[in-house]
Amino acid sequence: MERFARFLAALWEDLLAFLVPLPPGCPLCGAASPTRSPCAKCLDRLAEYRSRPRCLRCGRWWSGNAGNAGGLCSDCRREAPAFLAARSLGSYEGILRRAVHRLKYGRKMFLGELLGRLLAEVVREDAALCRAEVVVPVPLYVTRRRTRGFNQAEVLARALAGASGLPVYCDALLKIRRTAPQTGLSRPLRRENLRGAFVVRDPAVLRGRRVLLVDDVLTTGATATECSRELLSAGAGGVVVVTVAAADVTK
Ligand SMILES: [Zn+2]
Ligand SMILES: [Zn+2]
Repeated sequence: MERFARFLAALWEDLLAFLVPLPPGCPLCGAASPTRSPCAKCLDRLAEYRSRPRCLRCGRWWSGNAGNAGGLCSDCRREAPAFLAARSLGSYEGILRRAVHRLKYGRKMFLGELLGRLLAEVVREDAALCRAEVVVPVPLYVTRRRTRGFNQAEVLARALAGASGLPVYCDALLKIRRTAPQTGLSRPLRRENLRGAFVVRDPAVLRGRRVLLVDDVLTTGATATECSRELLSAGAGGVVVVTVAAADVTK
């Protein structure tokens, strides 16, 4: 915990040198503070997530006391995902939900930098993810990217790659059609909605290599699965996934 806190404080101070001046306060919860580093409460929260049990495959968190440490969730038991493993900083709630929203809709790029560097630490500490060789963000469809002005997954992927020294290929995977929002769709419909939506544009940079796929949130894993299938069929040697936050599972 202390090591993690020191790491966070150090990276944040480094980062400040490259940023426009920010108002003081915790970048995650907004609590008043004389510094611009994550506050003690947020650091405790992130450390608590790291100690919580999760599905070993998709990395989603067991909610409350549900599930068993060391096991697989019911979705992964029914059908193994196309990716080898997925991991995240914590549950899609509270500070992480707020951070993702402020990055995506509030255009707080400094949060993308902070979260991307935190993801690099998640990758470094995980036996499956630390063997990744190239970083690829989940793409947005071209009109969506134009409307938003940026792809949040790309911001995260670039910061992660910068902190971990891995090459990042932001155009390796493309989204070639618009898809309906996944929210509210059942698991099979989510999959149907995304089928054929992604293509690999540059197979040469991925061939035989383990790809680290980056996104903001993993809910059912349908997007990660569809991207993984496409990456594998283009010759990737394996796919692992990292997201800022992941949904909880109860069974
Ligand atoms: Zn805080
Ligand atoms: Zn699972």
